[in-house]
Amino acid sequence: MKYYSTNHKAPLASLHEAVVRGLAPDRGLYMPEKIKRLPQSFYENIQNLSFQEIAYTVADAFFGEDVEPAELKRIVYDTLAFDCPLVEVEPGIYSLELFHGPTLAFKDVGARFMARLLQYFIRQEGKEQVNVLVATSGDTGSAVANGFLGVEGIHVYVLYPKGKVSKIQESQFTTLGQNITAIEVDGVFDDCQRLVKSAFMDEELCNHMKLTSANSINVARFLPQAFYYFYAYAQLKKLGKSDNMVVCVPSGNFGNITAAIFGREMGLPVKRFIAANNANDVVCEYLANGKFNPRPSIQTIANAMDVGDPSNFARIYDLFGGNYQKISSLMSGVSYSDSQIRDTMAKCYHANDYILDPHGACGYQALKDMLLDGETGVFCETAHPAKFKSTVDAAIDGDVKIPERLAAFMRGTKQSVSMSKDFDAFKSFLMAE
Ligand SMILES: *Cc1c(COP(=O)(O)O)cnc(C)c1O
Repeated sequence: MKYYSTNHKAPLASLHEAVVRGLAPDRGLYMPEKIKRLPQSFYENIQNLSFQEIAYTVADAFFGEDVEPAELKRIVYDTLAFDCPLVEVEPGIYSLELFHGPTLAFKDVGARFMARLLQYFIRQEGKEQVNVLVATSGDTGSAVANGFLGVEGIHVYVLYPKGKVSKIQESQFTTLGQNITAIEVDGVFDDCQRLVKSAFMDEELCNHMKLTSANSINVARFLPQAFYYFYAYAQLKKLGKSDNMVVCVPSGNFGNITAAIFGREMGLPVKRFIAANNANDVVCEYLANGKFNPRPSIQTIANAMDVGDPSNFARIYDLFGGNYQKISSLMSGVSYSDSQIRDTMAKCYHANDYILDPHGACGYQALKDMLLDGETGVFCETAHPAKFKSTVDAAIDGDVKIPERLAAFMRGTKQSVSMSKDFDAFKSFLMAE
């Protein structure tokens, strides 16, 4: 299958090229040339299939032309070494818990899949080592580092701003060792991002080592996020509740919800979508008045959704040929302030004994506010509440239990390389690797 750019000014790319490049040369996002509809028989029988079987069928539709079946199956099964259960929070509202992976957030799915697909391409080519550079303000670094942990032939360098990342987050990428190097930059997130960009543009460095990125816009991270929407449908169907399914996604860069929309294009029976935002409501505004007006992000307690210029909106726009009518009839948007998010966490905990994280809280509240009679709502619980323990504890006046795999990270020994924000120092370091 070929991939085109949403800017339509770059040549078509193979899957391999699209994965290694991340962004197209014209700075657009890659899109698969076709989205295959899955056969009716698949949907009729879906409730009898395992998560891995469902995911493999979806993966085959996108990647089957480019990856050998046995290898693709291994990649999918390895990626999904954990469950994504659907849990009833109250009548008609279900939480799709996407936090059962190694770093307790949904980004584990895409990051693990991408790591294994990249390894497949490296092996196929008999290539030497590939180096992934990633700048993080917290969550991306942990998902990418853990996704690539122990994957042969790939070394990951995680750049993060010193003192600007929570202890919990820091422990998830500085305690790993093996093929993961954490680099603690004496600067802010933008300095980390600038160092990574400069490295990709430095000819001498690129001749010395093969560099690639693992951005969330990468097709190998983006498309696998469709898997769990099919599985959510299967779980609802088993309960006899799958008619009029509404999918609500707490959204920042809009990759997760776009993957769900791709699922619907493959025939998944989703009635409509709701994008739940925090105060960063650029897409909500577009859905209300047809104007897309990106602006600087605003800091909130649901910080993984603090995005002022959501990249993946370009994919939704392209998919529907920029047709506002089509887009706004398929999805609606709603945004919540920090105090509303805190209020939701408290109310849901007291009414249902269910602890939401600040991102999932937006999703849950959007269903409470917008679900119609006869609809069944599924919202993504995108992270475990313990990842945001101090915010959640304060909101619910409680004490969120820290799961053992998170506690294990926190007990680990921090290993990191200190780095100035000056590119020459970073380059010398990499040249000596
Ligand atoms: C990244 C992230 C989001 C936003 O997902 P997008 O695909 O960028 O819309 C929501 N919640 C959590 C916990 C995240 O880490």
